[in-house]
Amino acid sequence: MGIVIALANQKGGVGKTTTSVNLGACLADLGKKVLLIDSDAQGNATSGVGIHKNKIEKDIYDVLVNDYPLEKTIIATNHKGLEIVPATIQLSGAEIELTSQMARESRLLDAIKQVKEKYDYILIDCPPSLGLLTINAFSASDSILIPVQSEYYALEGLSQLMNTIRLVQKHFNPELSIEGVLMTMLDARTNLGTQVVAEVRKFFKDKVYHTIIPRNVRLSEAPSHGMTIVDYDPASRGAAEYRALAKEVLADHGE
Ligand code: ADP
Ligand code: MG
Repeated sequence: MGIVIALANQKGGVGKTTTSVNLGACLADLGKKVLLIDSDAQGNATSGVGIHKNKIEKDIYDVLVNDYPLEKTIIATNHKGLEIVPATIQLSGAEIELTSQMARESRLLDAIKQVKEKYDYILIDCPPSLGLLTINAFSASDSILIPVQSEYYALEGLSQLMNTIRLVQKHFNPELSIEGVLMTMLDARTNLGTQVVAEVRKFFKDKVYHTIIPRNVRLSEAPSHGMTIVDYDPASRGAAEYRALAKEVLADHGE
């Protein structure tokens, strides 16, 4: 049975999508069958694995709003072992359209059930908000991986995120847990980043991964080529650290 992990933080630009794509690719390289679900209307995870808009017939919007079978939206990526449920800009209307629907918080949960046993890991790339799309992701997930940018105000907004997690635990998904907290974009040349990491460790304790993702220009270049970091520049520091993260995630699950 696949382990479902939502990558969430309502702040934009903290590394949710970069982590979804590259953790997914590295888990696949370790022999796992991985499904990435793009749940952001920006579609950055979709384009980041090389899927062009004109290749997408149905996407996550059709699944959530029109009950289209999730299984039929899955597309292979150019990374072996990694598949994706794509998102397009039409997802931007989903939150409003879902508001008036039945079981609006558990649509993704129901949709994932059909494919859960075919994958080892299902990663959901959440949008930068705590709206219905994120609630759907939390209701459908076993755990949440929280990327946190290693800079000032890193902890800002995290109490709101924790409140949302508690609400979902209470009303929809009592088993939901924190998978881990990932420090991203660390600039090793400054003391600030290291201080922020210490601060986040004080707050989240051993939930913070040993692996820290450095600021690495190769990580920011890869998506414009539609490639994961391990395909774009396997020798980069970014690739090395995402490989280390994948091993840490597997170890947390006793593998
Ligand atoms: P989110 O999904 O949380 O909005 P992204 O993963 O899209 O964040 O990252 C925001 C921007 O920062 C993107 O342009 C991405 O390429 C870049 N980026 C992400 N992680 C790193 C990193 N470790 N080093 C350098 N650039 C990064
Ligand atoms: Mg994103």
